[in-house]
Amino acid sequence: MQKLIAMAALLLTLAAGWARAEVRVTDVRSTTENGTTRLVLELSEAVQYRKFHLTGPNRLVVDLSATSTGLPATLFALSSAQVRGVRAARRGDGVRLVFDLAGDFPSKAFTLAGDGAAPNRLVLDIAGNPAVESKAAPVVAKAAAPAVQPQVSVPARDIVIMIDPGHGGKDPGALAKGGIREKDVVLAIARKLKAEFDRLPGFQGKLTRSGDSFIALGKRTQLARAADADFFVSLHADSFPKDRSVYGGGVYALSLRGATSETARWLAKRENAVDLSHGVDLGDVDDDLRKVLLNMSVDSAIRISKQAGAKVINEMSGVARMHRRRLEQANFVVLRSPDIPSLLVELGFLSNAQDVKRLTNPADQDKVAAAIRRGIVSYFESSPPANTVVDQKKRAKPDAYVVVRGDTLSAIAKKNGTTLAAIRRANGLSSNAIRIGQKLDIPRS
Ligand SMILES: [Zn+2]
Repeated sequence: MQKLIAMAALLLTLAAGWARAEVRVTDVRSTTENGTTRLVLELSEAVQYRKFHLTGPNRLVVDLSATSTGLPATLFALSSAQVRGVRAARRGDGVRLVFDLAGDFPSKAFTLAGDGAAPNRLVLDIAGNPAVESKAAPVVAKAAAPAVQPQVSVPARDIVIMIDPGHGGKDPGALAKGGIREKDVVLAIARKLKAEFDRLPGFQGKLTRSGDSFIALGKRTQLARAADADFFVSLHADSFPKDRSVYGGGVYALSLRGATSETARWLAKRENAVDLSHGVDLGDVDDDLRKVLLNMSVDSAIRISKQAGAKVINEMSGVARMHRRRLEQANFVVLRSPDIPSLLVELGFLSNAQDVKRLTNPADQDKVAAAIRRGIVSYFESSPPANTVVDQKKRAKPDAYVVVRGDTLSAIAKKNGTTLAAIRRANGLSSNAIRIGQKLDIPRS
């Protein structure tokens, strides 16, 4: 009897599925030509769709009617100069695709009917960087090319770094002898870090709190998203009263697959304890899909976080004692932002007398703020987001040198009026080894 009921239920489900004639996205391909990203969605049937753009941040939204949420993984792996990431959510009887764009890029969409040889398709064209293209395009008399869309140049924007001083208000964080509180120490250093970024052209520092106020963990990433931040860095200080000899800083990136070390696990538990109710809001998505989407959209953010994190550790090691010299990963609530690369920096141990001295001394605070800034800036200078001042500066940079026989890196540096260290930094070289024909960026002093 039970078997029969199960069978009947299965048949009903199948019938319901059939009646709705749900469209399935069977494959997604993407190509880039002349700076335009073309996305081709292959479909099981013809689809009804609508598309529109949203700004602040820039998004292209495509609603597919009566379409299954079972989407190919390749869709979420998509990234191009225009597309930073792809998200999807159930919308009515269909699915909403949201393409997070790196700028105000216009798009076109059209469908192609299946013809036996090829399936039904929905084609999305996302135009390239208008500012860069118009510069490179040959001069054409406007009257001769009436079909060409007028190109609007997008003003270059600053890279926004959201700095998050941990704790605050009713939550003092870790405590040290003499009434020193984590929330005050991290706020002082966060303010200095903001000033570090604000001094640099092309960067802008923002704070989740500028005073002693309580902000829930989930709210902190919301603030970052609302500010359209390119990067999120949360500042904390540890405490380990059981062993006051434990000292030094550490840098952590988000991991969804568990912590990389016992320390990271312990820290995540402690920093998360204050507020566990705030997670990521992905909108109207069912739980299983939510998990999949979260994992996929977070993947690229984690990749960037890890690259930037390694640079921050490197810089911090030069000015401060480090507890761990390796980037650690842990599941911090405050880092659980699906689309913004994030780091959590533990500046030192408030249970250690020497660390307390260093963390409260203004000159040492300056040094550590500058080191964190250098680490983050060096990441963004090597991989700037599209349409930023830093990106345009990098593109405009004409100074390149091609290595010839007999060259050494130090001789090239001298010849070009720069230093060995600067040339290595500009080219991401880990040693002085070069090869004939290699192209080197010559940093402008
Ligand atoms: Zn903390």
